[in-house]
Amino acid sequence: MNFFALTLFPELFDAFWAHGIIRQALLKKKITQSTLNIRDFAKGRHRTADDKPYGGGCGMVMKPEPLAGAIRAAKKMAPDSPTILLTPQGRLFTQRLARELSVYDGLILVCGRYEGVDERIRTDLTDHEVSIGDYILTGGELPAMIVIEAVARTLPGVLGGSDSTAKDSFSDGLLEHAHYTRPEVFEGEAVPEVLLSGHHKEIEKWRQETSLIRTFLKRPDLLKDRPLSTLERQMLKKWRSEIDKIIYA
Ligand code: SAM
Repeated sequence: MNFFALTLFPELFDAFWAHGIIRQALLKKKITQSTLNIRDFAKGRHRTADDKPYGGGCGMVMKPEPLAGAIRAAKKMAPDSPTILLTPQGRLFTQRLARELSVYDGLILVCGRYEGVDERIRTDLTDHEVSIGDYILTGGELPAMIVIEAVARTLPGVLGGSDSTAKDSFSDGLLEHAHYTRPEVFEGEAVPEVLLSGHHKEIEKWRQETSLIRTFLKRPDLLKDRPLSTLERQMLKKWRSEIDKIIYA
């Protein structure tokens, strides 16, 4: 997949492309990246990329011409790639959306700054608007990196194990099970015995159960519209009867 980051601060992406999973994915040619400086598409001696808002008010607005130039330059390289505007007013970014976006050959990510981009960029040159949460950041660069990383992780060959993402939190509508590593006892707290048993079926069942229960305890909203399997139903009933014993003791 080809990622295009359109930004006024391309240097913010330098460390991002150069480390970890993203670096590996670039080296393995599972992804490519082009970081375009929006200012390079601005006209005039000062290459101005922002201006005062019509109608008055505080802050600056990103001018449409440099943004349009940058988007069109990216589109020329990747005509089938959708343009994604990072904005707190967009669709909330989730694992589901990461998977939806992973089907494209490329993504053109537009990073806003100041009060945001001229509305005509949003209406005429944007395919998707994506928000990473209900809070306001200074720029779209961190949101773009979050989208890139989450989408890249879903691509075949980007992570080591073939099912590394299959068990991640949210991939099957549940939070992932608990993890333990050495030492066997840490500050008096031992690793659950079942994990040392070598009994793969029991370990899998334990993982399924901790995954389900921690979802119920931490994020019950995730269970609301998710159909339960017979086994999951049994697990929840077992926990309910344990809780009942405590309540009615
Ligand atoms: N005035 C805008 C509003 O109230 O909707 C917020 C502008 S914000 C200060 C500047 C830029 O940061 C935005 O154009 C967007 O690209 C990015 N940004 C800020 N918060 C974001 C979020 N939660 N999700 C995605 N992008 C965000």
